[in-house]
Amino acid sequence: MIERESRVLARVACLALSEFFQDYHRRHGVVLELDASVDRFEASGDHVSGVRLADGRVIACDVVLVGVGGVSNDDLAQAAGLDCRNGIVVDLAAHTSDPAIYAIGDCTNRPLPLYQRHIRLESVPNALEQAKQAAADICGRVPPAPEVPWFWSDQYDLKLQIAGMPFDVAEIVLRGDPASAKFAVFHLTAEGVVQAVEAINAGPEFMAGKSLVAKRKPIDRDQLRDLAISMKEIAA
Ligand SMILES: Cc1cc2nc3c(=O)[nH]c(=O)nc-3n(C[C@H](O)[C@H](O)[C@H](O)COP(=O)(O)OP(=O)(O)OC[C@H]3O[C@@H](n4cnc5c(N)ncnc54)[C@H](O)[C@@H]3O)c2cc1C
Repeated sequence: MIERESRVLARVACLALSEFFQDYHRRHGVVLELDASVDRFEASGDHVSGVRLADGRVIACDVVLVGVGGVSNDDLAQAAGLDCRNGIVVDLAAHTSDPAIYAIGDCTNRPLPLYQRHIRLESVPNALEQAKQAAADICGRVPPAPEVPWFWSDQYDLKLQIAGMPFDVAEIVLRGDPASAKFAVFHLTAEGVVQAVEAINAGPEFMAGKSLVAKRKPIDRDQLRDLAISMKEIAA
């Protein structure tokens, strides 16, 4: 696997989690080329034969899977005169800058009141949440309260679940032992408010963490580290 950043999941996860996943993939036989930029593909006849890196090395291959992210295509929205800034700008009722047009999903730049900012999210829960907002507004109802953004990824026997976003984080608290492949990383503000949780095979930590993100109530770090205290108690 060739990765331009110095670690995998650099855009979405903390260093501890990246290192855990790197180690796990290596133990499953994956060779990671980090800090490596792809320059071009080499061909042999009409088949790909290698990937040339910016440092000149060529990695031989006969299949390439490209996963390099995406850019929101807002051509249609721009042509309709909608306000577009890294996606179509919408409000919490999925209104665009034209009251007759709604937009939802990956192509939108939406408010995230929990973190007092606008952001473009690419996830199924985000598209579903905005679908509910638009549907409520179309039916003349008050849109549901904003949800905590969440994401998941299944890799081998690992279930990664992330709730919230690690903005303005002052401290990271680890609950559980990464060696057991069952643990969670909590991201806290200086006041002890949970901004995000990254949970590996840790359903209770994910569920309680998600509710803690919504509550915005400072929590006790020592309790969070103590596996003898249930997440239910901590989140109560
Ligand atoms: C490989 C991959 C893995 C992913 N894994 C996860 C995951 O594990 N968890 C998760 O939460 N999210 C995941 N996502 C992201 C998730 O798929 C998207 O966030 C979600 O599908 C966004 O929904 P959407 O309705 O905004 O867009 P889409 O699901 O992309 O739907 C948009 C639709 O509009 C159609 N369309 C586009 N232009 C036009 C046009 N001009 N006229 C008519 N139709 C048009 C497209 O063909 C498409 O069907 C993954 C995405 C990818 C690519």
